[in-house]
Order: sequence, then C-alpha cells, then structure tokens
Amino acid sequence: MTEPTFAGLVSRWYERNARDLPWRHPDVSPWAILVSEVMLQQTPVVRVLPAWQAWLARWPTPAALAQDSPAEAIRMWGRLGYPRRALRLRECAVAVVDRHGGQVPDQLEQLLALPGVGTYTARAVAAFAYGQRHPVVDTNVRRVVCRAIAGEPDAGPATRPADLVATEELLPVEPAAAALASAAFMELGAMVCTARSPRCGVCPVETSCAWRASGQVAPDGPTRRPQRYAGTDRQVRGLLLGVLREATGPVPHQRLDQVWSDDVQRARALSGLVTDGLVEPVGETAFRLVGDGPPAPVPT
Ligand code: SF4
Repeated sequence: MTEPTFAGLVSRWYERNARDLPWRHPDVSPWAILVSEVMLQQTPVVRVLPAWQAWLARWPTPAALAQDSPAEAIRMWGRLGYPRRALRLRECAVAVVDRHGGQVPDQLEQLLALPGVGTYTARAVAAFAYGQRHPVVDTNVRRVVCRAIAGEPDAGPATRPADLVATEELLPVEPAAAALASAAFMELGAMVCTARSPRCGVCPVETSCAWRASGQVAPDGPTRRPQRYAGTDRQVRGLLLGVLREATGPVPHQRLDQVWSDDVQRARALSGLVTDGLVEPVGETAFRLVGDGPPAPVPT
C-alpha cells in the first residue's frame, strides 16, 4: 500500500475538521469568494463573517457594486480596517464589468490584472472558485510548509517565489484535489500549526514534520510584538473615517477637530486619508468620503 502524501494527510484532516465557513459552500459565486479573500487578508474570520454577508446582500454581483459610489463601499466596509481595500474592491468590480462582462475571470493572468488582486488573491480565486491547481500561499501556508517540510520555525516576512514553488511541489496533480489541498494547508496553519503555539499533538503530519523531528528549535532574535494601535495615526484615521462614514453630507472641519486633540497628528491623519483617495475636501472648510455626492467644488 502506498504511503499517504503530505497533501493527502492534510486534506483528509481538513475534510473532517474544517470550519463551516459560508464562502466555502459549493454554491458560492466566484465574486463572493473574491470578496471573502480580500476581507480576510488582514481581518479575523469572526469580524469578516457579518461584513461579508452584508456586503453580498447589498452587492451580490460585481455589476451591482460597480454602479454604486466609492463612498458607499467605504461606508459598508465599516470597521474592518485597512479601508483602502474597499476602494480597490470597487475598482476591481468596475474592471470585471468593463473587461469581463461582469463575470469574475477564471484565468490567472486575467485575475492578476484586476485592481487590488495580487499573487495570493488571484490564486485563491482560481483555486477555490474554479477548482484549479495553483499554490495558494498566505502566512499560514508559508509557516506550515516551512516547518513541516524545511524544518525551520519561521517563514519570514513576505511570500517569495520560492514559497510558491515549495508549496506547488506538495500539491496533487489533479486540479480539484490540489484546490482541496490548498484550502487544507491554510486551515491547518490557521487552526493547528499556529504561529505561537502549534498543537502538534492533533496535527495530521506530526510524525513526518521536519521541525518537530528537529526538536522545534525556536527562531533566533526577539519575538515580534503585536502592533500597537492606541495613539497611532491608524487610530486617528479610524476615528475621522467613522465620523465621515456616518455623515450624510460634507462634515465641517470643526466637527473633525473634535475627534482628536493633537492638531498635528489629526492633520497628518486627515491628509493621509485624502492622499489615499478615501476622503476629499469640499471647499476649504469641509470634508466627505470620496465620491459622496456631486463633484466637489474646486476651491478658488
Ligand atoms: Fe506544525 Fe507541529 Fe504539525 Fe509540524 S507537527 S506542521 S510544527 S503543528
């Protein structure tokens, strides 16, 4: 009898243990999967779930979102964080309508050419929406492959071409099995082979894991600390955006001045929102979400 492969072991574990997440259901559209992948990039599942459901209830197709304003996309994004993703998602919807008749394309090159769709998202959509064989490599997958195959504790800060090659080598040849394995690797990294406390005792590849076999030597250097949020420009941007999201029209400068007492930091945060295309000035005394109404008068 042939030994089960790494992908086979992880896929079998996945079929028994995967979380029942709505974007994994078989009847979900490629658009819904694309939206989930964008939302999940920097936000935990528990926060994405209600936002994803609300987003798709309002914009079930790329055409529906493309017809709405950037301001509404930012509003619906709510407090998911990194709100430029909302703008990119709407630009992506417009491009899907213009270039592909409103259907999310199934070709990797076409997916990669969409606004806001990078190496990871394009392959995730090709694999999970269209059942294709591509290495889908996020932080969790890099960590699993790095530990289990290379025997090293940490996969480094960003996905490299070598990570794609290493992951692809593990995938079954048959596309549907490869897509299943890609989802399984991600789930294993998210639920078992976690960054801080891997649960090797329940891991399906414990007996073959190279890092486990080598004694799980901890990485050199200081442990990475979680990023601080309180008091950062990110917090101030979030507060400003919160006021602008809830407003029905332009918000006077004085109202925005109330959200944060440090004038310099507040001005820097507001300027950053304008530079990022999330907010626009209305005359010289007010601001609003970008595209939230007729074109803003140009200050004379
Ligand atoms: Fe990760 Fe432990 Fe499984 Fe190795 S045995 S892949 S370190 S959870």
